[in-house]
Amino acid sequence: MWKKDSKNLLKINRVVFLIFLVGIGIGLSLVISIFVRTPPSYYEHTGFTLGTYCRIVVSSKKGSKTLSEIIFNELDRIYKKFDPNNPNSVISKINTSTDWVDLDEETFVLLDAALKFSQITDGAFDPTLGNLIRLWGFDRISEKMPTKIPSSNEIEEILRHCGADKVELDNRMRRVRLKDGVTLDLGGIAKGYALDRAYQIAKEVDSNCTGFVEAGGDIRILGPKFGSRPWVIGVRDPRKADSAITYIYLKDGAVATSGDYERYFIVGDIRYHHIFDPRTGYPAVGAQSVTVVAREATTADVLSTAGFVMAPDWEYVVLEYPRLGGSVLLIDQEGKLHRSTSFSIYEQAK
Ligand code: ADP
Ligand code: MG
Repeated sequence: MWKKDSKNLLKINRVVFLIFLVGIGIGLSLVISIFVRTPPSYYEHTGFTLGTYCRIVVSSKKGSKTLSEIIFNELDRIYKKFDPNNPNSVISKINTSTDWVDLDEETFVLLDAALKFSQITDGAFDPTLGNLIRLWGFDRISEKMPTKIPSSNEIEEILRHCGADKVELDNRMRRVRLKDGVTLDLGGIAKGYALDRAYQIAKEVDSNCTGFVEAGGDIRILGPKFGSRPWVIGVRDPRKADSAITYIYLKDGAVATSGDYERYFIVGDIRYHHIFDPRTGYPAVGAQSVTVVAREATTADVLSTAGFVMAPDWEYVVLEYPRLGGSVLLIDQEGKLHRSTSFSIYEQAK
């Protein structure tokens, strides 16, 4: 009798213990789910626009795929609007007119910014090099690289039809007029601007979205990885494709690189590429690449191009560009690295 009872008692104890265990299990998992939110998953959208491969990596509670499509459409809208090779673009309209052209607000603001950047970089960034870029054959991105070096006479002649002083921007009437056959090329700013627009539109849809948008190596961060971690971005070794020379860690802001390895041809020992020194009309010498971190992609894009042009004066670039809003890593012609103190902060994993 006693034996039977004790057996039953043991059974009951086991059941109670099991219930107890299950209870603890449920309790614990509830606590864990409260404190450890599952990390967001990222949706990746790649496509060709802005004359390059673009990558959108985004996570949004409002729908990552839909948001990535909205962002891509915005990049493409800007590409079509400002592409000098698109006969329907606003740039084509301005470039083919000798009279005043009325501007929409977006175009006016972008042109105004481009001209101001031209001023603060002492003309190193020059949005009026359309004729020079066409002479060298770097205007048609869909076609093969050019192979012919223009004569010095041709270059001298074409430089008479370049220069920000030949652009009249009428603030009051919101219109522009180009003089002396000058033509605009916003290739050194449009990508950055498009990335900033991508950021703005993404935040309008979901202010909490995270991820980044990349256009041909230029990046605008939408928000930290998993809401708190930095994105790790490799800075390409200019002479070794698929190899990083350093890494930077960004939770916000933007980074852009101008390099002599993207679009170029080689004659003899000389590499002729697509970033021009507006003073000489020849591809700028002194750097293999210039990378700039800034709050906004427009600033990073412009300053990387301007820094590339000013590269022979690299001390000025690394010291003074932070005052213009950009931290610089400049890789000179010998492959030596020069950086702003503020740039090295981004190279430290946090
Ligand atoms: P990428 O477009 O390869 O990232 P950049 O941002 O430096 O490189 O932009 C280069 C483009 O800018 C060129 O293809 C040309 O359209 C334009 N460009 C070339 N030289 C200059 C310059 N000195 N100032 C402004 N724009 C330039
Ligand atoms: Mg650039």
